[in-house]
Amino acid sequence: MRRKLVAANWKMNGDKATVESLLSEFVQNVDGQSIDAVVFPPALYVGQVADKLAGSGIEFGTQNVHHADKGAFTGELSLSMVKEFGCRYVLVGHSERRELFGEDDALVADKVAAALAADVTPMLCVGETLEQREQGVTEKVVGGQIQAVLDKVGIAAFERIVIAYEPVWAIGTGKTATPEQAQEVHAFIRKQLAGSDESVARKCRLLYGGSVKAANAQELFKQPDIDGGLVGGASLLADEFIAICQAA
Ligand code: PGA
Repeated sequence: MRRKLVAANWKMNGDKATVESLLSEFVQNVDGQSIDAVVFPPALYVGQVADKLAGSGIEFGTQNVHHADKGAFTGELSLSMVKEFGCRYVLVGHSERRELFGEDDALVADKVAAALAADVTPMLCVGETLEQREQGVTEKVVGGQIQAVLDKVGIAAFERIVIAYEPVWAIGTGKTATPEQAQEVHAFIRKQLAGSDESVARKCRLLYGGSVKAANAQELFKQPDIDGGLVGGASLLADEFIAICQAA
């Protein structure tokens, strides 16, 4: 009943030629009718991506956005801008934004609220570091990251939010969470949402991210609370990403 979603996070990688060649492959081989597929290119390439994906059923968005609508925010992008280019999704609170660019829970919640107000689907990223996992505070950390957004936008909004659980220790490391480890946290997140509203919890899509590849996608996506994946490195390889979409 929850439609699978697979998203490509290209991070700060690629050039015009890569965008052209990867998307040519995606358009031919990813079935945007049976799953939701979303590409997050570096923002400069969104216009090129929009042209290339027109009519394909594959959606796209930016990897970050500012929560103000316009003004003196040098270097930032607004939701009206990303919307004008046809973005239906934005990534919010990726762990690299949190760690390297100082985004805290309050800012992430503001961005989610702004995306919802603009009718753009926020893909809210949450996840614990290795140290936190070893300290046994994974649920506290992930629960807190979600609670900050819940407090800001309310439970009903989670029908329009996609959550990506990405353990920081699994991102770009080749160390994937086992399907059981991932499922455990996904079930925890769904239970947390159900504490406020069971029907919303059943509808909200929870993606797993962190070294997803063709070889592990199927096992992960079989888990009852895993509704797809947010894919970094493997999304820059056409065959890998296509196989991951097919596994969904
Ligand atoms: P990875 O990245 O697939 O390269 O681990 C995932 C992400 O950061 O979204």
